[in-house]
Amino acid sequence: MKVAVIGSGTMGNGIAHVFAMYGHEVNLIDVNEKALNKGIETIVKNLDRMVSKGAVSEEDKQATLSRLKPATSIQGAVEDRELVVEAATENVALKLAIFKELDERCASDCILASNTSSISLTKIGAATKRPTQVIGMHFMNPVPVMKLVEVIRGYSTSDEVTETIMSLSRQLGKVPVEVNDYPGFVANRILMPMINEAIYTLYEGVAGVEEIDTVMKLGMAHPMGPLQLADFIGLDVCLAILKVLHDGFGNPKYAPCPLLVNMVEAGQLGNKSGMGFYILISGSKQLEVSSKFKL
Ligand code: NAD
Repeated sequence: MKVAVIGSGTMGNGIAHVFAMYGHEVNLIDVNEKALNKGIETIVKNLDRMVSKGAVSEEDKQATLSRLKPATSIQGAVEDRELVVEAATENVALKLAIFKELDERCASDCILASNTSSISLTKIGAATKRPTQVIGMHFMNPVPVMKLVEVIRGYSTSDEVTETIMSLSRQLGKVPVEVNDYPGFVANRILMPMINEAIYTLYEGVAGVEEIDTVMKLGMAHPMGPLQLADFIGLDVCLAILKVLHDGFGNPKYAPCPLLVNMVEAGQLGNKSGMGFYILISGSKQLEVSSKFKL
């Protein structure tokens, strides 16, 4: 299939990697050349790791890379595509503008998918003249590793397009799950209140960072505690999704914890800014609780 992936950040490079590895021709587009180059470098690094583990052969790595074409503009990179997967920055106005442009440039039978974590697919579809062909394809981070694709049907998405994306996800070695378009879909509607409650538990002094994460890891068999996971996702992303849940349902149970709001306003965004509930000890993968939260 001829595919374009828009955005070469954390998610976009992983999505392009997986499509190219499974035989699809991928145009990887990012308006920021630095981000585009970094995305390609990440794909090469991740493929090298897979080769060293024996998961893919050197020939498969070269074939995968030969199917990837970088581009810095949508213009000229989407017109002949059968599927576009948008993974640009999580911002409503930006996504609506991208989908409007895609609708104008792409062939009439091209499917337009978004990897959005929380923005309404119904709203995105309504910005185009093809809402039946707009769908959510929500991959998980890191994309080459995580099996789930949450397939989100907007209010107008057709059965046929949903079935195409479900079977394509299976062909990519993933397990797709079909869900309807309501705030937070399924994954973040359940995950974000848990993370928010963990932050409230810390904020109210019930327990410290390590204690909260240890309870959830050893008690509930979660591979990562909720505060470590929040750092990994990005605290700004968590806050943005909680706001979507809060606005969308109008229910105070989704109100973001004031500690989370403060941390985001202070620029402490988790791993991406080097400081969140934990700090990464330089030169190692070890985490240390931020001095702010030491009891
Ligand atoms: P990111 O900030 O790492 O990358 C976004 C990229 O989009 C940047 O490189 C930016 O230059 C590029 N971009 C911005 N405007 C563009 C445009 N007009 N055309 C082309 N490229 C453009 O963000 P991310 O974490 O990869 O998130 C991307 C999407 O995936 C968001 O919708 C997010 O909600 C969703 N998502 C993120 C995660 C996660 O764990 N980070 C998980 C699931 C879904």
